[in-house]
Amino acid sequence: MQDIHQVLEQYFGYKTFRPLQEEIIRDVIAGKDVFVLMPTGGGKSLCYQIPSLVQSGTTIVVSPLISLMKDQVDGLVQNGIRAAYLNSSLSPGEQAAVLRQLQNKQLALLYIAPERLAQDQFFRILQTVFINFFAIDEAHCISQWGHDFRPEYRQLAIIRKHFRDKPLVALTATATPRVKNDIIERLGLREEQIYQASFNRPNLSYRIIPKNDPLSQIHDYVVTKKGESGIIYCQSRKTVGHLASRLQENGIRALPYHAGLSDVLRKKHQEQFINEDTDVIVATIAFGMGIDKPNVRYVIHHDLPQSLEHYYQETGRAGRDGLPSDCILLYSYGDVFFYERFIAEKQSEEERRISKAQLHRMVDYAQSKLCRRVQLLQYFAETSLQKKCDSCDNCLSPQEMFDATIIVQKILSCVYRLRQRFGANHITGVLTGSKAQGIVGRNHHLLSTYGIVTDYDRNQLRTFIYELLSQGYLRQSGDQYAILSLTSKSRSVLKGMEKVFLTKPDIRIFTSRQKEAETACDLRLFNKLRFLRKQMADKQNLPPYIIFSDRSLKEMAAYFPQTSEQFSQITGVGAEKLRMHAKPFLQEIIDYCKPLKICPIIKYNNTVAITLGLYREGKNIRQIAEKRGLAESTIHGHLQQTYINGESINIDKFVVPEKQKVILQVFKELGYERLALTKERLGEDYSYAEIRWVQAKILKSNTILE
Ligand code: ADP
Ligand code: MG
Ligand code: ZN
Repeated sequence: MQDIHQVLEQYFGYKTFRPLQEEIIRDVIAGKDVFVLMPTGGGKSLCYQIPSLVQSGTTIVVSPLISLMKDQVDGLVQNGIRAAYLNSSLSPGEQAAVLRQLQNKQLALLYIAPERLAQDQFFRILQTVFINFFAIDEAHCISQWGHDFRPEYRQLAIIRKHFRDKPLVALTATATPRVKNDIIERLGLREEQIYQASFNRPNLSYRIIPKNDPLSQIHDYVVTKKGESGIIYCQSRKTVGHLASRLQENGIRALPYHAGLSDVLRKKHQEQFINEDTDVIVATIAFGMGIDKPNVRYVIHHDLPQSLEHYYQETGRAGRDGLPSDCILLYSYGDVFFYERFIAEKQSEEERRISKAQLHRMVDYAQSKLCRRVQLLQYFAETSLQKKCDSCDNCLSPQEMFDATIIVQKILSCVYRLRQRFGANHITGVLTGSKAQGIVGRNHHLLSTYGIVTDYDRNQLRTFIYELLSQGYLRQSGDQYAILSLTSKSRSVLKGMEKVFLTKPDIRIFTSRQKEAETACDLRLFNKLRFLRKQMADKQNLPPYIIFSDRSLKEMAAYFPQTSEQFSQITGVGAEKLRMHAKPFLQEIIDYCKPLKICPIIKYNNTVAITLGLYREGKNIRQIAEKRGLAESTIHGHLQQTYINGESINIDKFVVPEKQKVILQVFKELGYERLALTKERLGEDYSYAEIRWVQAKILKSNTILE
């Protein structure tokens, strides 16, 4: 049997496995039933694809969507893997051809729609061929508790009944215990091995920004992302339409997607997005289920999602390829009122209760000052060792509080003047001097608090009100309309006996934040390669990412490979892609490098790559050293190399900032090459590893010591 690492490298061009992949693959090969829970982009496909390549039969993969099947099979074929699919999009002749391939043992993988199993002819053929095992992708579709129930999936119970000895592998990104148990029971898994990966998506950065002027805010961000793919979610079709035209008017390639468009048009826009004939899709939440586009660089929420689960799923469509991607939510408390009205219209008490709870959980998240990532993981009942990350707004720039006593007094006294009978919308209207009929008609323009707020707008006031609610200075009641009333706490504020601190209104500008590691490629060359990829993709009628991933192109534009040998070192370049596509890309790189006298940079050798892989999986230095049987100092050395080459590593973990300062001071005196001397000067408290990290930092930043 071929070694699975070799298969990984030869067919997929990857050097290391992602977390859990290796363990899962070994269990699948050993013939166990396996349940795989991994977030989107976690790398579930390889878990059944690699076993299929070392086994001699055919693996049957059940997949719910025709578009996903095609994508997967196109990708596999590009990697030189014998794969095909059977579904209603094929003509009878094409279907017969696939069945022949199956019977002639020419397929390592066959993708089918679930209903296919119920077809007599197919079922009979299946009983005559050698099957490795069955893989059920998107297995949550079998459960009514999941978010995407498909009755056809129920037919899968047939597998266990008629193929008793064949292992079953179920894969999903939906992790609730109820769905999990449902899947296990309905498929009839036996003594299953359950693997659950972390739901953390380290390459996604989360940000929430106050929604002031959403069309301009979004436009200003999107222009900085020209040529990159992004999805913008809106709650209403109307907003989708407005935003899409606004972007188009400004020369941005954006298209709308919502249920009001014809099927044909929706399909067309989706394809344009996949084929990169458009950059941006502005969509209602219905968009995204049927696509696996790996290089979506940002997801923007124009409106508050209705639950944290929706938020996680929708933001999760960014960055499947593992490259840094932005998740941005424009938040205004006004959205909450919108939902509250919407929820009030729901039929059952139970539904209202659940929706309300979900909404409030979402609002808490949006208003919170804690690390966004930690909160999301906690929501999925994952305990995170760290309290902070370095890629969410709250960790990067903590919000400040300010003494808000005066504005709070204005708000509270307005509540009082209105006899505690109105909601936030009315109150903010009175405070800002609105001439709306509801206010003037009630003579509320005669109140002493009418129009006394000029320094904040209504959205900002709503945000303050929400914070006052959560701090207990206001209370909300009423079913249809939320009425605000005072509490015992508010009275002491009104009497001037207590100060109130609120979050400072946030004017953080909406700019794109790319990790250094990822911009560390030659952007001009990258764009040339991207253009070439697009041309080749169009010629073969494939999405560009099937030819090469963005990661592969970025590496090409960072290492400038100029021979086949060097080219094969690039992530994602397996034997087949080397054979099929290396030539034009190499030519492009050589043509680019020659006049500029750019030499190829040799990629890390294998040992460094393995260390890096383990590090990216979240292992610490000691664990890596133990696993590899190497000294910790060697592991530090490997990571320092990758760090200098652009890997994003927070070196504060290895050398506390105070020590960095001291080491830097000595370097300034002695020069940064003289390690032994530096060590001697610093003494026992400083290790070589620490000194080398600071050295690496200098080398990386290319700054000259003054
Ligand atoms: P999922 O089905 O869990 O959402 P996929 O199987 O589609 O995820 O994988 C997401 C992306 O990660 C794909 O582009 C895939 O090629 C890539 N990938 C998977 N495993 C690895 C690996 N070991 N090394 C590098 N890239 C990987
Ligand atoms: Mg998948
Ligand atoms: Zn954080």
